[in-house]
Amino acid sequence: MATIISPWSSELVADYERLMKVFGVEPLNGLLNRFPRLNRYLRRGIAFGHRGLNVVLDAIEQGKEYAVLSGIKPAGEFHLGSKITAEQIIFFQSLSPRSKTFYCIADIEAWEDNGQPLKKSAEYAIDNVADLLALGIDYKRTYFYFQSREPRVMRRAAVFARGISIDTMTAIYGKQHIGMYLSALIQVADILLPQHEDFGGPKPTVVPVGIDQDPHIRFTRDLARKYKNMYGFIEPAAVYHKLHRSLLGEKKMSKRDPMSCITLNDDPELAAKKVMRAYTGGRETAELQRKLGGQPGKCVVFELLAYHLIEDDKELQRIYDACTSGALLCGECKRRAAELMANMLKEHQRKKQKFLDLARSIVEEALTRTV
Ligand code: SF4
Repeated sequence: MATIISPWSSELVADYERLMKVFGVEPLNGLLNRFPRLNRYLRRGIAFGHRGLNVVLDAIEQGKEYAVLSGIKPAGEFHLGSKITAEQIIFFQSLSPRSKTFYCIADIEAWEDNGQPLKKSAEYAIDNVADLLALGIDYKRTYFYFQSREPRVMRRAAVFARGISIDTMTAIYGKQHIGMYLSALIQVADILLPQHEDFGGPKPTVVPVGIDQDPHIRFTRDLARKYKNMYGFIEPAAVYHKLHRSLLGEKKMSKRDPMSCITLNDDPELAAKKVMRAYTGGRETAELQRKLGGQPGKCVVFELLAYHLIEDDKELQRIYDACTSGALLCGECKRRAAELMANMLKEHQRKKQKFLDLARSIVEEALTRTV
């Protein structure tokens, strides 16, 4: 199945294409027919690139075991960008009953990067895990863990540290404090954790992440090759999705400005207001828009519809066509998106409420686990 809509994100797609060429990321398009089914991120080219995914698709086709691993820094509530990663993990988990899922609560990274104490990360983790449960993760087939509580990760990071020079780390990550380099090595060990002998040894692994995580993936694949003789690693694969733009139209959604970002805990009415203030691809006047049409490729509201709010591809195409032909004006379009966003959040928060106790017990278990 081909991606049915691509022109709406033309500006960003141009950037992503350049980025794929520069860093050698493979386009995902050619592999879509190998998936047992597609989700909206794959159908719409929001998940657009990969490294080494064939080995995982082989495992799925042959009914063999594979792992899905990703992690999110527990530095606050999930926003719409975290939701993409969470839904991608859940999607890859759901493709086969032979999948094993690992969810890393990156509390060391939250400390090294943000100076956030581990205790605070544990509090946020309950909320984040409740989001994952409400989004549909099969928790019985998922290993939730904290980086700081997983000695296998720490030990492997120490093993990998030997032979990595500061020059190599600087070339990949720029000049950073030592903690950031340590955190990068821990993330390598995270990605290779599913291949630890305690989890059944080497296996194909897919890591669904935003494209900004590619340096970690390349570094991990290099080290997997380097330590293949010692541990038998299979180079982990990655599937990359686009970064969620902020509501103000900048490239990456972040929580620094609350009005530029929607979190899954936002009051639905406030979230609707944020959508009404979001950056659009509309023209200066209604008259011009009727004449020239809108520009959904530039429009954050269209991005919200495509990424989160409209599941039906034909309906999304209708909105795209109505926008570009000038039949649809931004006021009407934003009102609909705002209502859909409020409803989505209400429904998500209703489900999430039911999972809070379970999330608490999953986090408590991960905090007390000893290996
Ligand atoms: Fe964006 Fe909708 Fe306006 Fe088109 S009509 S530019 S999709 S807000």
